[in-house]
Amino acid sequence: MQFSELELHQALLDAVAEAGYQTPSPIQAQAIPAVLAGHDVMAAAQTGTGKTAGFTLPILHNLAKGQRAKPNHIRALVLTPTRELAAQVSDSVTTYGKKLPLSNTEVFGGVGINPQMMRLRKGIDVLVATPGRLLDLYQQNAVKFSQLEVLVLDEADRMLDMGFIHDIKKILALLPAKRQNLLFSATFSDEIRLLAKGLVRNPVEISV
Ligand code: AMP
Repeated sequence: MQFSELELHQALLDAVAEAGYQTPSPIQAQAIPAVLAGHDVMAAAQTGTGKTAGFTLPILHNLAKGQRAKPNHIRALVLTPTRELAAQVSDSVTTYGKKLPLSNTEVFGGVGINPQMMRLRKGIDVLVATPGRLLDLYQQNAVKFSQLEVLVLDEADRMLDMGFIHDIKKILALLPAKRQNLLFSATFSDEIRLLAKGLVRNPVEISV
C-alpha cells in the first residue's frame, strides 16, 4: 500500500514524504482509514510501530475541514502518561501538520502553568496533555471542551499503571458525549477492556 491511496490531504502526504516515509506501517494502513471514516478505534500497538502517525495524520485531515478552535477551546485531545511522551507526540503533530493552518501544543506537570494558560488563550486545535495538568488547567478555566471532536488515549496501559484512572474518569465526564474515541495500548488487560467499555462505541479493533 502507498500513502497516496489513503486519501489524506495533500499537505499531509507532502509532510510524510518529507519525513522520508515510503509506505504506511501496518497500524497506519489499518488505523488511518478507520479514523478518517469517523470510527472509534481500539488498537493494540507498541511504541515503534508508527502508531503516532496512525492517529495524528487522519485527525489532522479531519480537523482541516472544520472551524478553527475558539479562544480557550480545543478540538482534539491526546492524553499521554508522561511529559516525555506528550512532548514527542506534540512534535509529531507539528511535523505532520506544518503545511496546514492548525495549531497544536503540549501541557504537562512539573513546569509553570502560566505559559501553558497563555498558549491556550487563542484556542488550540490539537492539545497533547498529561491528565493531572489538564485538570488543573480546566479548573483555572484555561481550557474548554465544548468544541472537542476527538479524544486519544495513548499508551493507556501505562496510564493505568501510573494510577491515572481517576483523573481519566474525571476528564471523560467533562467531554461532550458526541465525539470520536481512539484507544491505543501495548496490552489489552481486563482493566483496559473495562476502561474501553465505558469509552469506545462499536470500535474498529486493530492489532499489530
Ligand atoms: P511511533 O511508534 O509512533 O513512536 O513511531 C516510531 C518511529 O517510526 C518514529 O520515529 C516515526 O518517525 C517513524 N515512522 C512512523 N511512520 C513511519 C513510516 N510509515 N515509515 C517509516 N518510519 C515511520
